Amino acid sequence: MTHPGATLSDKHRVVIIGSGFGGLNAAQKLKRADVDIKLIAKTTHHLFQPLLYQVATGIISEGEIAPPTRVILRNQKNCQVLLGEVTDIDLTNRTIDSLLLGHSYRTPYDTLIVAAGVGQSYFGNDHFAEWAPGMKTIDDALELRGRILGAFEQAERSSDPERRAKLLTFVVVGAGPTGVEMAGQIAELADYTLRGAFRHIDSTKARVILLDAAPAVLPPMGEKLGLKAAARLEKLGVEIQLGAMVTDVDRNGITVKRNDGSTERIECATKVWSAGVAASRLGKILADQSGAEIDRAGRIRVMPDLTIPGHPNVFAVGDMALMDGVPGQAQGAIQGARYAARLIKAELAGADPTAREPFHYFDKGSMATVSRFSAVAKVGPVEFGGFIAWLAWLFLHLIYLVGFRARLATTLSWIGTFVGSKRGQLTITEQQAYARTRIEQLEEIVAEVEGEDDEATETVRADDSATVAS
Ligand SMILES: Cc1cc2nc3c(=O)[nH]c(=O)nc-3n(C[C@H](O)[C@H](O)[C@H](O)COP(=O)(O)OP(=O)(O)OC[C@H]3O[C@@H](n4cnc5c(N)ncnc54)[C@H](O)[C@@H]3O)c2cc1C
Repeated sequence: MTHPGATLSDKHRVVIIGSGFGGLNAAQKLKRADVDIKLIAKTTHHLFQPLLYQVATGIISEGEIAPPTRVILRNQKNCQVLLGEVTDIDLTNRTIDSLLLGHSYRTPYDTLIVAAGVGQSYFGNDHFAEWAPGMKTIDDALELRGRILGAFEQAERSSDPERRAKLLTFVVVGAGPTGVEMAGQIAELADYTLRGAFRHIDSTKARVILLDAAPAVLPPMGEKLGLKAAARLEKLGVEIQLGAMVTDVDRNGITVKRNDGSTERIECATKVWSAGVAASRLGKILADQSGAEIDRAGRIRVMPDLTIPGHPNVFAVGDMALMDGVPGQAQGAIQGARYAARLIKAELAGADPTAREPFHYFDKGSMATVSRFSAVAKVGPVEFGGFIAWLAWLFLHLIYLVGFRARLATTLSWIGTFVGSKRGQLTITEQQAYARTRIEQLEEIVAEVEGEDDEATETVRADDSATVAS
C-alpha cells in the first residue's frame, strides 16, 4: 500500500524539523529505512537540555551537552542535516520554508515530523527576558554563567554596601525542576567553589532566592518530594518564597505580589527565569491549517497517532505536541519520535495507514537534583530522595548523553565538582553576559537597513541541496 502523501519521486521524502530529543530520535530510528531524510534545525547541535543548568553554573562545558547533529548522523547516509529556521509550513502543497542568514529555502516533503519543542514564556511580559534570561539554549546558559560570575566580580569591586547586597542576591523564578536545580547550584557555587576566592566579599554570604506563584516546590512530583527538596534547599541557605507572583523585572531587581495582596521589591542583579513554556510557533501554523486545537502554551493537540487532523502524513511530537498523559519531558519526545518513525517504516513496507495502533506513552518516572548528593525521584508509585536518588540521576543522565567522549568528560567534571568542589568551566566573557541586549540592538539596526534597501528582499528558492546518497 502507498504511504499517505507518497509521490512519484524515487524515495519517500521525510522532513524532520528540530534536532532535539524528538528530531534526533526520529532520524536515527529511520536509519535503515529506504527514505530520503532532511533534518532541518535552527541550531547546529543536538542539545541535552537537562544538563543546561550545569553549563550555567560552570560544572560542565557546552560541548559536552551539545554535540554537532551532522557529526552524530555522519554515518547515516539517508539523512542530510540542514541548518535553518523553519518559518512556514504549507500543508496543501507539502512544503516547508526555512531561513538561513537572510536566504529562504523551500523543501518538499512526503512525510513531515515536526519536533520544534518549546521556548521560554514570560506570560505576556516579554520585556522581562532582557533582565531574566531563561534556560532553554546554550546561549541562555552561557549568558547566565556570565551574569552569575560577573555579579561576584562586580561585588568584589564595590564599596557601596547596598550595591554589593544587590549584586550578591540571585533570584530564580519558578520552583520546577530547573529552578530547583539552578537555585541549588548557585548556592553551592557560592558556598563551596568560590569560598575564599575573593578578598573584599564573602561569597558564602550570597543570597539565593527561589520563588514561585504556586504554593509548592516541584508541584508535579507531589507533596512529599516537594517538601523534601525544599528542606534540602533551605539547608543550603536558599530562601524559598511561595505564593509570590512576579509583576515586574528590570535591571536592578524584581517586584513580587504576595498572596495576601502586598507587593515587595527585591533588589537583585541576577535573575533566572524558569517559570513557563511557550510552544514553537510552528504549532499555531499547523493548527491554523488543520483546525487542530492549541492550548494556552501554544501546544498543538494531536490525534491518537500523533498526527494532526486530516493530515496522516504530518506528525507533531515532543514538547510542542499536546496529548493527555504525555509529559513535556525527554521521554515524551523520544517515544513519540520513535513511534512516528516505526509507522513510516511499517507503512512503506505495506502496512495499512488507516489501521494504526494509537501511541502509548510508557512512564519511566521523573527526577530532579537538588544539590550534590541529593535528588528526588518518582517511578510509578515509588517515591524516594537523597543519595540513592542522586546516584540514579547521575547514572541515567550519563546514559542519555550522546557520545562516549561526552560521557567521559562529564564524569570527570562531576568527580571534580562533587568530590572536590572544583568547577572546570568558570570562564566568562563580557560578550556572553550582555550579548542578548547587544544582539537585539543589532537586529533593530539590521531591520532598519534592510527596510531601506529593496535589494535585500530575498526570494524563496528551491531547496536544491544535493539529494543524499543511498
Ligand atoms: C533546563 C531544562 C531541564 C530539563 N530537564 C529535564 C529532565 O531532567 N528530564 C526530562 O525528561 N526532561 C527535561 N527537560 C525537558 C526536555 O529537555 C524536553 O522535554 C525535550 O528536550 C523535548 O524534546 P523536543 O524534541 O520536543 O524539543 P527540543 O529538545 O527542545 O528540540 C527542539 C528542536 O527544534 C529546533 N527548532 C525549534 N524551532 C525551530 C524552527 N522554527 N526551525 C527549525 N528548528 C527549530 C530547536 O533548535 C531544537 O533543535 C528539561 C528541559 C529544560 C529546558
